[in-house]
Amino acid sequence: MEIKKGIPVSTGIAIAKALVLDSEHFRIKERFLARDEVEAECRRYDAAIEKVEGEVRRLKIQVDESLSPDVGRIIETHLSLLRDPHLDKEIRGKIRNDLYTAERAVSVTMRRYIKAFKSMKDDFFSHRFEDLYDLEKRLLRALLGEGREDLTNLSEEVIIIARELTPSETADLDRAKVKGLATETGGHTSHTAIMARSMRIPSVVGLVSIVDDVTGGDTVLIDGDDGTLIVNPDAATLRRYEEKIRRRNHLESELAEVRELASVTADGAKIQIHANIEFPSDVEGVIENRADGIGLFRTEFLFLSGRADPSEEVHFEAYQTAIRKLHGRPLTVRTLDFGADKEFGAQAAVAEANPFLGCRSIRYSFERLDLFVPQLRAVLRASAFGAVRILFPMISSLDEIRRAKFLLDESKASLERDGVSFDRDIEVGAMIEIPSAVAIADFLAQEVDFFSVGTNDLIQYTLAVDRINERVARLYQPTHPAVLRFLRTIVEAGRKRDIPVSVCGEMPVDDLLAFLLIGMDITDFSITPTAIPAFKRVIRAVNVADARKVTRRVFSLPTSDAVLEYLRKKAREACPSLFS
Ligand code: PEP
Ligand code: MG
Repeated sequence: MEIKKGIPVSTGIAIAKALVLDSEHFRIKERFLARDEVEAECRRYDAAIEKVEGEVRRLKIQVDESLSPDVGRIIETHLSLLRDPHLDKEIRGKIRNDLYTAERAVSVTMRRYIKAFKSMKDDFFSHRFEDLYDLEKRLLRALLGEGREDLTNLSEEVIIIARELTPSETADLDRAKVKGLATETGGHTSHTAIMARSMRIPSVVGLVSIVDDVTGGDTVLIDGDDGTLIVNPDAATLRRYEEKIRRRNHLESELAEVRELASVTADGAKIQIHANIEFPSDVEGVIENRADGIGLFRTEFLFLSGRADPSEEVHFEAYQTAIRKLHGRPLTVRTLDFGADKEFGAQAAVAEANPFLGCRSIRYSFERLDLFVPQLRAVLRASAFGAVRILFPMISSLDEIRRAKFLLDESKASLERDGVSFDRDIEVGAMIEIPSAVAIADFLAQEVDFFSVGTNDLIQYTLAVDRINERVARLYQPTHPAVLRFLRTIVEAGRKRDIPVSVCGEMPVDDLLAFLLIGMDITDFSITPTAIPAFKRVIRAVNVADARKVTRRVFSLPTSDAVLEYLRKKAREACPSLFS
């Protein structure tokens, strides 16, 4: 049994066999050979060695002709590792004695060596693990062919172990079979994590060297509540977790009841809970969880399929589908917010050194009017069929919001010319998620009908902490006084100009932070649909007057830890049933 700690990003506990994906998505099935299959399996292994040796020798000839002696030496190392008697003996032993398939024997053995090499102090050996990796990949390719794992259609329940998963890979997962996700990279507000939460897949990220340390077919236990991952848990651990699962199920059934209750605080204040969605099909979850509407439709995900860029009709169809299913509840469509960890289609083609600071979101939309204008027209057309609002992301200046509005006006004029109906008074909002937008929130408030605070990005840009980088995840602090002061500035700007301020992003999903935000007199939220019942439970337990008192004091505290400590204590006193 081996216990590892990462960053919990999607709650829940799962126990299943590991499906380890390297960058090529090879999959090693846990299957044991029958005794009479052993000889044939050894021959498969021999053939793979021969094939790889041939490949490497051919590579050596090319390299000798054109490249430096250093590269030649690396290839020599590969050749000698390939024929290393100890490695070879261990692999054959696993096939003959343990009845492993050749690919599993290769993978388990290579990974044992990789782990040992990596931990060596000696510089020469500590770097040899990369050669072993390379060889493992070549051998697996020889044994399994070029076929990659099809994650959309799995035959058994698994926990996926990967270096990283992109949002598009996550969206494609077979929801019925994938019980958990564990990756080496990522952060709590990466879009992959956000999707895992909305798909209710327990997930842990930031697990150092997990891909090397777990072998396909190992039993893995993942605890998305506290970030634990256990490889091959023993019987006592399994019993302990079974008990925890039982307790969780009990909580789930309590939450199912809360779902049906009104979203009002203990002292009677109405709180609006809207939902964030990525796909039109997510609307089912919005209705199921009794959201007041959709506060954030991340429309860039319409580009996820990677096929042709969505036309005006495709956008329109998606918005109309959502409106139909919402039965009168409002829909806020956020315009394209490509970039950083959401790079699809043509947007992905241009590599940038600092993508979070690059040509993303509204900046990209202004460069690609061929994508942006059809979307504006589609949102307007949809507004004739229901309560639709439009929201512009990543606004950093007055010029940007004015330009976006100008393009919207032009689209209105073109629809008028075409004789197409739309809501002439469609509400326009700006996402406040960049420090410069906070600083000019009073000016921006004069330009728009509402603010939507993107807490995921606001925290990232305020603290200069990449939201998807596990190495700085510790510094991603929603309770940092700078973040809280910025939030207060936004709320005050909205109040002065009498425009509503909604908070979206992941911040309100944390019970303590929800308590804090309610204390800041925020009454409109937009969160992942699956998080709504738990959020409502907090709302119903909180007394706004108490939360306000606590929040006032919070603003005098100088550090994130001091805020957290104070909040924990006071929230426990105010709502013992919730924060005990
Ligand atoms: C945010 O930044 O908080 C937000 C809601 O948008 P996204 O997570 O898509 O950047
Ligand atoms: Mg954002």
